[in-house]
Amino acid sequence: MSEPNAETPSPAADHRDFIRDIVAADIASGRIGVPVTRFPPEPNGYLHIGHAKSICLNFGIAAEFGGHCNLRFDDTNPVKEEQEYIDSIQADVRWLGFDWGENLFHASDYFEQLYAWAVHLIREGKAFVDDLSADEIRETRGTLTEPGTDSPHRGRGVEENLDLFARMRAGEFPNGARVLRARIDMASPNINLRDPVLYRIVHASHPRTGDAWCIYPTYDYAHGQSDAIEGVTHSICTLEFDVHRPLYDWLIANLPVPHVPRQYEFARLALTYTVLSKRFLLRLVNDGRVRGWDDPRMPTISGLRRRGFPAEGIRNFATAVGVAKADSTHEVALLEHHVREVLNRTSHRRFGVIDPVKVVITNFPDDLVETMEVVNNPEDPSAGERPVAFGRELWIERDDFMEAPAPKFFRLAPGREVRLRNAYFITCDEVVKDADGRVTELRCTYDPATRGGDSPDGRRPKATLHWVSAAHAIPAEIRLYDYLFTRPDPGADGRDLLEDLNPASEAIVHGYVEPALAEARPGETVQFERLGYFCADPDSRPGALVFNRALTLKDTWAKVQARG
Ligand code: ATP
Ligand code: MG
Repeated sequence: MSEPNAETPSPAADHRDFIRDIVAADIASGRIGVPVTRFPPEPNGYLHIGHAKSICLNFGIAAEFGGHCNLRFDDTNPVKEEQEYIDSIQADVRWLGFDWGENLFHASDYFEQLYAWAVHLIREGKAFVDDLSADEIRETRGTLTEPGTDSPHRGRGVEENLDLFARMRAGEFPNGARVLRARIDMASPNINLRDPVLYRIVHASHPRTGDAWCIYPTYDYAHGQSDAIEGVTHSICTLEFDVHRPLYDWLIANLPVPHVPRQYEFARLALTYTVLSKRFLLRLVNDGRVRGWDDPRMPTISGLRRRGFPAEGIRNFATAVGVAKADSTHEVALLEHHVREVLNRTSHRRFGVIDPVKVVITNFPDDLVETMEVVNNPEDPSAGERPVAFGRELWIERDDFMEAPAPKFFRLAPGREVRLRNAYFITCDEVVKDADGRVTELRCTYDPATRGGDSPDGRRPKATLHWVSAAHAIPAEIRLYDYLFTRPDPGADGRDLLEDLNPASEAIVHGYVEPALAEARPGETVQFERLGYFCADPDSRPGALVFNRALTLKDTWAKVQARG
């Protein structure tokens, strides 16, 4: 793993990068009018935070320079692709805040044109049908230091190639029996130019074209030509494709395409404690190790959304990491930092107790209920206030009490006074325990003169606790999330990724929340005061609320920076 990045470019700063510089120069020189970009997901899984970086880059550039960005499904492998993925990808791009408008495309829209261009290459003597198996093609490809060997079928005549290619399309041959290869150069120092495969036989139904085709173009063949058809000016992809660029350019130069797109490569996003591989994420889903693609521990966009991360936080993170030409790994703490920054500004504060212990205020009248007006968000006066019921019996956090307080423990203890936030000062008089010695109840008295949380005589308790009225509280299942992996570099040193899975990445507790949360919509994130940000889960039912802890309140990014 490479070193984490030490710098944090400010999201507010002018976020120019080398790709934006190229676009600006292309506009200045008149090479293009406005940029046309595309985001080209293969619908073989759900989008993840790495894709979010690419989405922000492609849609961001288009918007900033007055162009547009296409959403193009790279749907050329029907064996792995599904409608569920197509739907989730569209939902996720929209949720991130981007709009492709009319510009929704599919590589499969171009199958007929791609086929015609393949025929063109055959006629020009630049492609041939090969009978070698996939293994034989691999074995004869050569290595970085040795040239490959020509296929025995490389010399096939145009007519025979045309006939065989037509029969491949017609379904005469089984999977793997033949392929169409470009005829370029088996001795090229670039392995991608050693007669790359353009078409494979795959007898499989396609989500969009059904059984119309049994030959499918490879990524390399379909991608650049789709860019050309769509008038894409800047085809932006990740670094591993730089060795494919000569083939990208060769195909564009040797086909009668209507437009010449260019490919640019940037560093893919990598994050500590995170694996961004669709194949591995699919394995987690299929093995039942997570609740699905949208499990709140998954780095998928749908998982982050269910976790309670706002789209704005993800976009700001993408801006902050910037666009680089060299691979590096970013701290997941930086993502969390941007998420907290947004949640702190936007989320309503609520009272929730996740490990409850009962408080009984013995001098508070039995049948009295007082209503406290509590500010929804101190960062946002327009968010207003809400009524919160206060009564004789309350829930507080178990770890806000210590019978024998440690030296720096200032919260509730026998004989000690603390403030209940927005309510009263209370003093603990008596501790009630069960047969096992576990505290079951704290009997306290309150000072009626401290309503609202201030004392007329200037007494200032050292601690302020959150609470929920027991008579009004709503029980809730609360799912506490931690990293999916125990290590910042999962799978390093050849370990199996599964070995590094964090067995404690999800902990379920049962607590109580204030009644205002009964109406929390799934996806709504609030701050439970003093505890962190929590998001109502879609599993919530009336009377059986479920909240996911998005993040605790503690921002570790500053610490990471100091260390760097
Ligand atoms: P796979 O290689 O497993 O198919 P992929 O992550 O490359 O997966 P695609 O659907 O092909 O999946 O990706 C769509 C776009 O997102 C591509 O342009 C790709 O370069 C970009 N992308 C994928 N992963 C990252 C990442 N970690 N950081 C930035 N961009 C990414
Ligand atoms: Mg890919």
